[in-house]
Amino acid sequence: MSAALQLAQESHPTLSAARQAGWIFLQATGCLFLADFLSGLVHWAEDAYGEAHWPVLGPLVIAPNLLHHRDPRAMTRQSWLRNVDLPLLLGGLVLLAVGLSGHLTWTWILTVGLLSFTNLIHRWAHQNALENGRLVTRLQSLGLIQSRAAHAAHHRYPRASNYCALTSHLNPLLERLGLWTRLEALIFRLTGVARRVEPLPQAA
Ligand SMILES: [Zn+2]
Ligand SMILES: [Zn+2]
Repeated sequence: MSAALQLAQESHPTLSAARQAGWIFLQATGCLFLADFLSGLVHWAEDAYGEAHWPVLGPLVIAPNLLHHRDPRAMTRQSWLRNVDLPLLLGGLVLLAVGLSGHLTWTWILTVGLLSFTNLIHRWAHQNALENGRLVTRLQSLGLIQSRAAHAAHHRYPRASNYCALTSHLNPLLERLGLWTRLEALIFRLTGVARRVEPLPQAA
């Protein structure tokens, strides 16, 4: 910190409080977008390379994900707790490990907490306003959580874009950068493994 800024803060304590509040807001926003990005990274890996026959991950993660593509509303017929049970368990284990290492901070808790509840926000993106109630619908329309319209972009065939599920703001940027297709091209070049192709939608 510069001497001039330190002097200004000493003579104007409110400047320091405002600066601190701004820094906390910036960190919280960073946590939100980091969690959104990580949700997209995991979702992209599942969609692009996951196979239902894999041991453990197959039945636990990949098969429900493939079912979600065939029947997006299936998750809304389960309890919301069922939608987030595995992420909550994994998130709890991560926080426990970080806590035991002595590095637990509120930014860890916020990021992992947001990530653990991303599938609930995802569920809300598949429910109508009547099912979601006023508060969730308001949060969606304010852009604080992902809207139904923004998530619908992921479900349009070939379902190979817009993987982030927490907010509506990161996906347009990542799609403009072509991040996921660039990663897939790189993996193909390095390993010869191509991304899984989604089966064509069934005729109604
Ligand atoms: Zn997907
Ligand atoms: Zn979905």
